[in-house]
Amino acid sequence: MWQKIKEYIGFNKRTPYVSKYFEETNIRASIYMSVVVIVLEVWMILRTLIKYVILSDKTRDFKWIVNHFSSYFLLLSMGVIMLVFAVRFLRKKTNSGKAATTFIILFSAVCIGFGINISMQDYAKGHQIITFLTMSLYVSALLIWRPFISFLVTSLTFIAFYIITNNAVEGAFYEGDKINYFTFWISLLMVSVSLYRQRLAEATKDENLEIANRNLEKMAVEDEATGIKNMNYFTEKSIEILQDPDTVLEKKIFLFLDITNFKTYNDHYGFKKGTEFLKEFALKTDETFHDAVVARLSDDHFAVFADREQARERLQAIRDFLHTQQNEIKMELKVGGYIPVKRDVNPRQACDRARYACGLIKKMYGQNYKEFDKQVDDDFHRRQYVVNTIDEAVEKGYIKVYYQPVVWSDEKKLCGCEALARWIDPNYGFLSPAQFIPVLEEHRQIHKLDACIFETVCRDLRSMLDQGRKVFPVSLNFSRLDFELMDAVNVLESLADKYQVPHDLIHVEITESALTNDLEELQKSMEKFRRDGYALWLDDFGSGYSSLNVLKDYSFDVLKIDMKFLSSFGENDKTKTIIESVINMADSLGMRTLTEGVETLDQAGFLQGAGCGRLQGYLYGKPMPLDELKNKIDDGTYEISERLA
Ligand code: C2E
Ligand code: MG
Ligand code: MG
Repeated sequence: MWQKIKEYIGFNKRTPYVSKYFEETNIRASIYMSVVVIVLEVWMILRTLIKYVILSDKTRDFKWIVNHFSSYFLLLSMGVIMLVFAVRFLRKKTNSGKAATTFIILFSAVCIGFGINISMQDYAKGHQIITFLTMSLYVSALLIWRPFISFLVTSLTFIAFYIITNNAVEGAFYEGDKINYFTFWISLLMVSVSLYRQRLAEATKDENLEIANRNLEKMAVEDEATGIKNMNYFTEKSIEILQDPDTVLEKKIFLFLDITNFKTYNDHYGFKKGTEFLKEFALKTDETFHDAVVARLSDDHFAVFADREQARERLQAIRDFLHTQQNEIKMELKVGGYIPVKRDVNPRQACDRARYACGLIKKMYGQNYKEFDKQVDDDFHRRQYVVNTIDEAVEKGYIKVYYQPVVWSDEKKLCGCEALARWIDPNYGFLSPAQFIPVLEEHRQIHKLDACIFETVCRDLRSMLDQGRKVFPVSLNFSRLDFELMDAVNVLESLADKYQVPHDLIHVEITESALTNDLEELQKSMEKFRRDGYALWLDDFGSGYSSLNVLKDYSFDVLKIDMKFLSSFGENDKTKTIIESVINMADSLGMRTLTEGVETLDQAGFLQGAGCGRLQGYLYGKPMPLDELKNKIDDGTYEISERLA
């Protein structure tokens, strides 16, 4: 209740925005007032001058002139001064607001004094008190004071006028006039309250809009989680800097910051702590690169557009900070850099390049910074090309199957081949799997390549069968993603059907790393393959961290021992012991073995002795096109074994 009353009479606290709004509207209103007053006073001066001085036959002495003109000149000059300050204020001249307000108050006082004076003279002559009422209306109601000020000013001037006039003119107010006078006073009060309320509502609405707008603006450029800038801001600001003719491009660099192992931190300490950590990291980065453009790109990735000069030092400071923050979980800051070469480079693309360079060192221990240089650039373009061209490559036959012989360790006769993909490109020439398989996996396009390889192998087998040739089983490499991106079992099944290829001629190779995260779907697919009569081979055994778990959870027909084991053959005695025990273990689990990467007779001899059934490696032949393999079979280089399983 009290609050409401306080609000109505204008005692409530106003926000700076609302106060400013009132100040502005008052000053604006005072412009209209001063213009009216100026016009009026000029008119009054001219009128008096012409009527009472020039056209009059009376001589006017100095006293008469002062008496008749002083109030006009006073009001005129007040009007002019107020107009000047009000206009200055609205043109955003600083400090003129206070002066304008002071003049409004002064002007109001003069107006009221003037009103009282003129109206009293008129009243004495038996006229109405129009001037006084007009001035009161101006001052207390049209100018937006707080209502209690309007009350005060209006009441005081009404009382003053009443007393002064009553004293000067005996019995001035008739009964009826008194009532009119009182009614006018009350009406003025009402008008001022109502105008005040209306202005207040407008001001508050405006303020809310302004706040909403500011929030929207903030949201548009701010990263919600960390409070630093977001990529919208980053892009815009970087473009601005790049376009500035004073910016020397070679002195600038885009940086992509990646915190490795942050996911583990998040899993370990929980999402909330993870976010807190990110926030601290973001603030530290923002602070360290205080004169650069810093933004959060996504997750634990940040983008910086800075001067090259101190960039490395500053990154080290952030890295040091990161190291002081971690305890059980070791995190590292990996950074990729890209120096812009053109002013019109798209900052997002620049960050992509920096990110790409950063990705190259992601798994390299001890290397924490990589710049996007010429070689990286070529690599980057080739990868882009691979992703963009895979459909065309499949369609136009750039994808070829090379066959690498697999032999029995005892008789050394061919017992099968592994189908390995090659991309022979009209622009890039020969591409090896390392140049396209990881990219295709990354971009979830690998199934297109694999389906193409499967079809080529089935077609090749069919044509050999049709030619009445002796055939051999071929093992196909499956990517983990094949099971996600297509119905791998169905695809192979329908191809085998289409080309009428017996299922025992196809082996399904799945790499150990594909099986680390327990995938129910994958397990189901493997069971289907087995039911359909395809042998399942475990590829690259021993290359990952959880080889033994894989053996526990899945069952395979053949275990392919990774070639990594042979790389230290002859240097490290333990190698032999390890290989032997792997072979024995596989044996006791009912699996056959194959060792990859056999390059020397020594290795072959040892493996045969250790009981490894199949061998594959350069010693017996590199991957080669089918025609070459057929020729080698025909000329007796390879003899196809009678035993094929
Ligand atoms: P992988 O399946 O383990 O294939 C064996 C790789 O070892 C082949 O490399 C082969 O050329 C190489 N190799 C064989 N013997 C020797 C040797 O004695 N010494 C040396 N140094 N290397 C040897 P390649 O053809 O470059 O293939 C690399 C990997 O790419 C393959 O490893 C496989 O994981 C993947 N890959 C190849 N073709 C395909 C495919 O059609 N689909 C899928 N998803 N992956 C494929
Ligand atoms: Mg393989
Ligand atoms: Mg392998």
